[in-house]
Amino acid sequence: MTVTVKTFARLDEAAGALTSERGARFLGGGTLVMRALNEADPAIATVVRSTDPALMQIALSSSRIELGAGVTMAMILAERELAFLHPVARAVGGPAVREAATVGGNLFAPSPYGDFATALLALDATATLAGPDKRELPLEELLGRRERSVALVARVAFARPATGAFRFAKVTRVRPKGVSVLSIAAQLPLASGRVAGARIAYGAMDRTPVRAKAAERALEGRSLDATAIAPALAVAADGTAPADDAIASAWWRREILPVHLRRLLLGEQV
Ligand SMILES: Cc1cc2nc3c(=O)[nH]c(=O)nc-3n(C[C@H](O)[C@H](O)[C@H](O)COP(=O)(O)OP(=O)(O)OC[C@H]3O[C@@H](n4cnc5c(N)ncnc54)[C@H](O)[C@@H]3O)c2cc1C
Repeated sequence: MTVTVKTFARLDEAAGALTSERGARFLGGGTLVMRALNEADPAIATVVRSTDPALMQIALSSSRIELGAGVTMAMILAERELAFLHPVARAVGGPAVREAATVGGNLFAPSPYGDFATALLALDATATLAGPDKRELPLEELLGRRERSVALVARVAFARPATGAFRFAKVTRVRPKGVSVLSIAAQLPLASGRVAGARIAYGAMDRTPVRAKAAERALEGRSLDATAIAPALAVAADGTAPADDAIASAWWRREILPVHLRRLLLGEQV
């Protein structure tokens, strides 16, 4: 089967081609798309690329962070001001994968992939779409509809978390570069030593990264000590629907989730 490659200078043109052509797939870093092409995936008839420099932009201020969808994990690791995200970027594959793997591609990577998307969900990020459907939408909404509609993400943006408020843990069987059994990202702002507005997200606990809303509610107003977090741990797996796959069973994922959430909340090493 012949695959056509179309390259556009502007993201909006690429988005137009993506939505108007059947079997069109956007190429980010290609760590998953190229694998699918090499396996002759019949669903891909056209590969859409863009050389728009906006894809690679990183815009940092003291309060807000914007990452072009084409920013790679290696670029994040090279940016000192994004140090709080380094454990997340470092958790994505090995060095070769991180050179190519993009932020945008991670949003669409099937579970159990999606470690960076999990972090972005905890950070309350928005995604800006390019092309005819151009708008900024909450990441949660994008993830919820990613299997039903085609969209080209131009960039993601989020408020810089307070120092020390962001935490991330990845549980894997193979260190340092195994695929997630699960991942947990949390933004835990404190007011007078108590949690005020927690956002917790899980990777590999559903078809897409998901919020841990029951645990978030149970943490509100609590301090981060063993007694106070117990109600949150009791509801840690509420609302999740993990899969049985080659990495772990759904049962195992639910069993170990509270153990690792406990360690993350108490600031212990996972
Ligand atoms: C050996 C190996 C190990 C891996 N380990 C991990 C891991 O530990 N953790 C993890 O999270 N992932 C892992 N991955 C999966 C993958 O590498 C990452 O998720 C990566 O971030 C995907 O980005 P990409 O740019 O390579 O995506 P691509 O392969 O280019 O694209 C993936 C999907 O996203 C879509 N897409 C890409 N960019 C956009 C955009 N801007 N807008 C809309 N759609 C877009 C593509 O059309 C495609 O459907 C691994 C992959 C491999 C091959």
